[in-house]
Amino acid sequence: MPSPKRPIPPDARELLFGDLWEYDPAPESAPAFIEPRYGLFINGKFVAPKTRNYFDSISPRNEEKLSEIAVAGAADVDAAYQSAATAFTSWSKLPGTERAKYLFRIARLLQDRAREFAVAETLDGGKPIKESRDFDVPMAAAHFFYHAGWADKLGYVTPGRTLAPLGVIGQIIPWNFPLLMLAWKLAPALATGNTVVLKPAETTSITALKFASILQDAGLPPGVVNIVTGAGETGAAVVNHPLAAKIAFTGSTEVGKSIQRALAGTAKRLTLELGGKAANIVLEDAPLDQAVEGVINGIFFNQGHVCCAGSRLLVQESIADKVLSKLKIRLKSLRTGDPLDKNTDVGAINSQAQLDRIRELVACGVAEGADLYQAASKLPAKGFYFPPTLFSNVAMSHRIARDEIFGPVLSILTFRTPEEAVEKANNTCYGLSAGVWTDKGSRILKMSTELKAGVVWANSFNKFDPASPFGGYKESGFGREGGKQGLLDYANLI
Ligand code: NAP
Ligand code: MG
Repeated sequence: MPSPKRPIPPDARELLFGDLWEYDPAPESAPAFIEPRYGLFINGKFVAPKTRNYFDSISPRNEEKLSEIAVAGAADVDAAYQSAATAFTSWSKLPGTERAKYLFRIARLLQDRAREFAVAETLDGGKPIKESRDFDVPMAAAHFFYHAGWADKLGYVTPGRTLAPLGVIGQIIPWNFPLLMLAWKLAPALATGNTVVLKPAETTSITALKFASILQDAGLPPGVVNIVTGAGETGAAVVNHPLAAKIAFTGSTEVGKSIQRALAGTAKRLTLELGGKAANIVLEDAPLDQAVEGVINGIFFNQGHVCCAGSRLLVQESIADKVLSKLKIRLKSLRTGDPLDKNTDVGAINSQAQLDRIRELVACGVAEGADLYQAASKLPAKGFYFPPTLFSNVAMSHRIARDEIFGPVLSILTFRTPEEAVEKANNTCYGLSAGVWTDKGSRILKMSTELKAGVVWANSFNKFDPASPFGGYKESGFGREGGKQGLLDYANLI
């Protein structure tokens, strides 16, 4: 609502896009119920770490301390694996119908506490409340529902064969979708009869630890899920533990490569969901207003902290100027600021380290000669914020066209023919996702086959469903999460 004290601007355009139009603050007020200190979740209980060390978890929204999180050392990780190995003997033998009951219960308990989890996720990670409320938490519940449905139907995944659980799975997740990545990892592992040691990212451990209380309320047998917190060293201890039957990792390509090296020569299975530099391709016959919305959503969703973000816009030369001017207009109406405000579109950058990385890459784009555009915006004085940014006149050789920025920064390149678009889109070490915007169905079918990416969206972007497998090509990793394919990555076929 416009503030009643302000004069109504005479020009409707100004009304929509000018500085005079102000929203009143609309902060989400539900309590997040964050404990002052969290231990490790091992064998169904919270325990103090043997290291006796804790680190502060701060909110990127305002840099305030939210909680103290335990640092798990090698002995703690070992205790978690021992407890998961003991639990495996009975959990893996439970009938699928019984495992399904636990998964359904977990999904429903998460739905019951959805608002609380959404606020906690936003405070801890910085994403806008409308995203944690309308995307992260409901999607996390959807993954448990979906896999609950599979738990007693595994015989139908590959008829004539049996899916046998692998054992104890070590799972490591990043900070961009903390609760959702936890759900992507836990739900298929549990549905197929495995037990788990999970490590959340250092900056976003809180919703995983809150989730442990849901596991307790669901009556999940002790040891089936263990949660160990800490930084990269804790992750390395999870990777290297001899009891791990498989490591499932989501994170950077760099760490993924080091894990692959560490596991070489062992019998451990591995799936890697790594980085991306997706091309979002807009052809001249595309419905431009929808395409512009899709491009905006593709890069500014979750501040661009999205592995499959459409961070390279490839636009056909004939419409490039028009698309750029539409994007600039749209940028002016994006609201960047307090993620707890229900009107915020772009929230806080997850950490100071990530903000520094974004700043460095943006400075590099300017130095390399690309044209920078940012709409005027007032960013909060405290906290980690970066304004939504467009770079036009970008060349394929620029770092901003090649490196994953993992921030609200779009690099715009042009092409003349669909063939050139595909060639440019595929000219990257990554292959996680891509988007095609065109009026012609035949062109969608042709280009989506030629694009070397695990997911190709047509006239849409960032659409997810638990039934749809997600994963990469090339340096974006291997293995799939979601769908039937995702179940196969947690089982031996016998
Ligand atoms: P990251 O630095 O690789 O961290 C990912 C996880 O690995 C964190 O829990 C991290 O712990 C842990 N870790 C760090 N060093 C480790 C080591 N040596 N051994 C084992 N574990 C280690 O990545 P990030 O910066 O958190 O996440 C951003 C990256 O994830 C981006 O590149 C993005 O594209 C990718 N990502 C991919 C997908 C996908 O599905 N393909 C989804 C989301 C994100 P700490 O955080 O405590 O250091
Ligand atoms: Mg945090």
